[in-house]
Amino acid sequence: MYDKDNIFAKIIRGDAPSTQIYADDYAIAFQNIAPRAKTHVLVVPRGEYTDIYDFTANAPADAQAGFWNAVRKTVEKLGIENNFRAVANTGAGAGQSVFHFHVHIMSDERFKTDF
Ligand code: AMP
Repeated sequence: MYDKDNIFAKIIRGDAPSTQIYADDYAIAFQNIAPRAKTHVLVVPRGEYTDIYDFTANAPADAQAGFWNAVRKTVEKLGIENNFRAVANTGAGAGQSVFHFHVHIMSDERFKTDF
């Protein structure tokens, strides 16, 4: 069940602050508040989907294409085209803590992560 009061929904609405990297009609990208790498950005679709499974099963094709285009634009803006990881934790047991779908974009990792 999607919770409209999750922190990423608040950021999308402008009810919570973020340091924005990229935004368009489909997605926004902002700095992770607790980075696990020198570059650690979260790309978040504007639509209300809890995780990558929900998103790929239920989001319309234009929203899915728009989201992955925003991931690419974010990577280009960061200048890390050939050196990054993209991670989507799915489910609390797999480390997901915010239940609005997001992809972690990480580059130049400073220390080992558990995801
Ligand atoms: P996950 O554990 O995969 O759900 O990732 C959630 C991520 O959101 C964590 O890495 C948090 O550090 C990050 N996070 C939580 N609150 C905020 C916030 N207000 N602004 C930016 N990043 C956040």
